[in-house]
Amino acid sequence: MPDAHLRAASPWVIDTRAIGLSKHDGPGLAHRLDIHGPAPDHTVSGVLQVPGGSEVSVTGLMESVAEGVLVTGEVSALAVGSCSRCLCDIEVPLVATFREMFAYPDSATAETTDPDEVPRLVDEAADLAPLIHDELVLAMPAIPVCRPDCPGLCPVCGERMDGVGPDHRHETMDPRWAALAMMKDTKGK
Ligand SMILES: [Zn+2]
Ligand SMILES: [Zn+2]
Repeated sequence: MPDAHLRAASPWVIDTRAIGLSKHDGPGLAHRLDIHGPAPDHTVSGVLQVPGGSEVSVTGLMESVAEGVLVTGEVSALAVGSCSRCLCDIEVPLVATFREMFAYPDSATAETTDPDEVPRLVDEAADLAPLIHDELVLAMPAIPVCRPDCPGLCPVCGERMDGVGPDHRHETMDPRWAALAMMKDTKGK
């Protein structure tokens, strides 16, 4: 019987019994995945994050193999954050492909590997959330920018160069010239 409670709790927990891929059904079977669900908690890296409530899409295939269930596919989501140069708000589309085996707890693979390396089927269910989290975090650029040639901030006043225009500059004058310039200014009035 599918565990209705577990399935209701997270769309990322796939009960292999419910999709006809339990160990009992044997290897060589496949089930297509097309899931849209909320981003796993703390999908964050540096200045980017996929907000908790936002939608993540996963398409792919689950296949029963001798040692467990193989999951291959693509995950996509929209990350939000700020440009590393000018600090304006940006959105960064993320796409990652993955291939992961969830081992049967009593398989040779489970006996010879650490659960951190090869995830396990728990109660015949595969929890894709940690996999999705890790793939999205890895897909986030380390130094995201609003556009490749973002001019960033003015190093003197901190204004966004995009906002103040290309002619924006600060006269750095020798104090003596500054005094002269002031005299000229007063004369002009
Ligand atoms: Zn920028
Ligand atoms: Zn400035």
